[in-house]
Amino acid sequence: MIKQKSYKFRIYPNQEQQVYFAKAFGSVRFLYNKMLAERKELYEIYKEDKEQLKAHKPKTCTEYKKDNPWLYEIDSLALANAQINLQTAYNKFFRGKGKVGFPSFKSKHKDKDSYTTNNQGGNIRIENKHILLPKIKGIRIVQHREIPNTETIKTVTISRTPTNKYFVAILTEREEEKTQIIDIKSAIGLDFSMPHFFVDSQNNKGEYPKFYRQAQENLAREQRKLSHCKKGSNNYHKQKLVVALIHEKISNQRKDWLNKLSCQIAKDNDIVCLEDLNMKGMSQTLNFGKSVSDNGWGQFVNMLNYKAKSVIKVDKWYPSSKICNHCGRKNVNLMLNDRVWNCSECGAAIERDYNASQNILDEGMRLVRKNRKNKTVGTTGLAYLCLAQQGYRVGSHCL
Ligand SMILES: [Zn+2]
Repeated sequence: MIKQKSYKFRIYPNQEQQVYFAKAFGSVRFLYNKMLAERKELYEIYKEDKEQLKAHKPKTCTEYKKDNPWLYEIDSLALANAQINLQTAYNKFFRGKGKVGFPSFKSKHKDKDSYTTNNQGGNIRIENKHILLPKIKGIRIVQHREIPNTETIKTVTISRTPTNKYFVAILTEREEEKTQIIDIKSAIGLDFSMPHFFVDSQNNKGEYPKFYRQAQENLAREQRKLSHCKKGSNNYHKQKLVVALIHEKISNQRKDWLNKLSCQIAKDNDIVCLEDLNMKGMSQTLNFGKSVSDNGWGQFVNMLNYKAKSVIKVDKWYPSSKICNHCGRKNVNLMLNDRVWNCSECGAAIERDYNASQNILDEGMRLVRKNRKNKTVGTTGLAYLCLAQQGYRVGSHCL
């Protein structure tokens, strides 16, 4: 089984390297927009006639390079990836049947400055605190983690933040043995919860730290100031940087907090059960808006994925909130703002999220038991479990 892992490190390019990166970011964006414009034109002409639309092949990267020779200066795989990204967005639009919009143009001001390139025959590597990339060598890198030599670098994404900091995100792959035997001594269920971040199956809450909420208030204040500045003025640009710096600080604080939280959970539990949520869909359908996509749940689940011994993902359609954990009655009329679960069957009154997290644990352990027979566990395919014979007790669950 192939396992992927990602790392992110800060890099410190010198003047010359910064110039190259600026060119690369610009070229990738240029190519993406050029190709998109061509696609859009064809689409407008032939949208009624799918066969015709298919028959018109878009121009290739090489053709674009011939027309714009300065593109030859740029890493060709970075350009090829821009084309692949556009193709993906375009396919999504077609398969989305009206739910997904036509891909939009990349803007210098709104979109992130970044490009992705691939490792070919070891042309991307880290040596003596410097990273070597295609077309550009020896950029100083600060590594807080070593990449084990059992892992191979697949792709690298270079990005620049609005506050002018540079990062590389490195994606690696390694071959993992199929059978991983773990003794289950403890398991936990986590329910994603709006006010508390999560509630676990022992009714512990993953409260956001206070400094984080304070920083949020600070951000709102500075954003208000920005909205009063005249667009394009000196003050506007100054204030924009202030806002970007706070954003960066908040995201670092959040990451730090999530890292500690996920480490603790992974250390204390052999199995972590959670819902396989689609956060993007959730913020749209439930109208939670920005707070859902920004709260870091996805980031948190990713961290658990590589830190915990085993993560069991419960189907997102499993009605964890609607089932009474005491008697199993299903309450289909439960509303989103019902915070307490009053069971009309057995009379239990428990907090909604606590009830849900217990159900998630039960459902996760059911999957473990079910798959014990065929020795596979987890909808994520992360680990094969082989449970000890004598039946470990997991909370109130006897395996
Ligand atoms: Zn009940």
